[in-house]
Amino acid sequence: MNAHTHSSLESDIKNHLNVQRWRHDFPILQTRLYGKTLVYLDNAATTQKPYTVMEAENHYYRYDNANVHRGIHTLSQRATEAFEYARVALQHLINAQYAHEIIFVRGTTEAINLVAQSYGRSRFKAGDEIIVSGMEHHSNIVPWQMLCKQVGAILRVIPVDDAGELDRNTYDALLCQRTKLVAITHVSNTLGTINPVKRMIDAAHAHHIPVLLDGAQAIAHLPVDVQDLDCDFYAFSGHKLYGPTGIGVLYGKSALLDDMPPYQGGGDMISSVSFEATTYNKLPYKFEAGTPNIAGVVGVGAAANYLNSIGFDAIVGHEQALLRYATELISEIPGLRIIGNASNKTGILSFVLQGLHPHDIGTFLDRQGIAVRTGHHCTMPLMERFGVPATVRASFALYNTISEVDKLAEAIYQVKEVFK
Ligand code: PLP
Repeated sequence: MNAHTHSSLESDIKNHLNVQRWRHDFPILQTRLYGKTLVYLDNAATTQKPYTVMEAENHYYRYDNANVHRGIHTLSQRATEAFEYARVALQHLINAQYAHEIIFVRGTTEAINLVAQSYGRSRFKAGDEIIVSGMEHHSNIVPWQMLCKQVGAILRVIPVDDAGELDRNTYDALLCQRTKLVAITHVSNTLGTINPVKRMIDAAHAHHIPVLLDGAQAIAHLPVDVQDLDCDFYAFSGHKLYGPTGIGVLYGKSALLDDMPPYQGGGDMISSVSFEATTYNKLPYKFEAGTPNIAGVVGVGAAANYLNSIGFDAIVGHEQALLRYATELISEIPGLRIIGNASNKTGILSFVLQGLHPHDIGTFLDRQGIAVRTGHHCTMPLMERFGVPATVRASFALYNTISEVDKLAEAIYQVKEVFK
């Protein structure tokens, strides 16, 4: 055995041990369906939760439950401490400069709506342009369309090429004086494409145009450093990073957030209220009206700590290995077409099989205990671009294994046989 194969064998073994260790953190992975152990490959829709996240929420309700920020009593102080501790964990996860740049919202969708209705509605006017891309999730299209209707602005779209990459030249050409915002996804939920966002942000900033990144599919799979990216807004959901549903984050640069009007009015977001005038609270509370999802915040804080404890070197290395292996294996299947062949991807594999509807494939795979997503993945314009009504999407997380990829490939061969 030469030195190279020896070291690659060593790293394979280490990787295998790591994954087995991580799998123990996720009790749901022991589930059996139709006599088979669950193979969960629907991670782009939502990830499974480790014990540490469930225990953090449970601990909060069992020992600390009280409303935050307003109470003088001990439990309220404990709840507030846990809540603000989570904010700092999220700050560290994305390397934000200040904790008050982390705004807790319901998820990516609410974060984008907040920017559209607070930042966009107060500044944009008729004829202004907003640039999105052809691979956006509906939640990074519809809020801008709603805003365009309200203020008379115009949506411009960066086209997607056959490989599933954004057309750079058109993007550069679209940036102009009328452009008031660029809102693009960091990673495509359908194609897995990792967009060259740093370069795109630099290009926008050269025209003094701010950039919002939809980080829903990046946050658990890539190291995200908002200061290095220099993005102006970054949106993500807790449930895609091994945390709970119903909680997410809008990151915004302090100066921008400070200047923006509140999104919703209510308790907690004010400093003083009278019938004549109300003054607003400072950041981040100005954007957190009403009693927040305290348990959700505590849970997503635990998820951020969990990810930080594993580290992105290990996560990226493992998920890229899964992607390479799966791409090779699945490409060999006759009649199978992978949608999305960008040179830089996360562990997302969308495909169609000649003569078979994705829903039939999904139903067959489910009976084999394999969970994948089928449909348009909330990216209808992208489906139209590739001329397909739907795809089958397998998406990987840190706990998936090579043997699960083998099971997926085997089941695809079987479904072809059955429906022949
Ligand atoms: N953006 C992308 C790229 C997504 O994949 C998703 C969810 O699938 C969203 C936005 C919306 O996230 P949420 O439904 O958690 O708000």
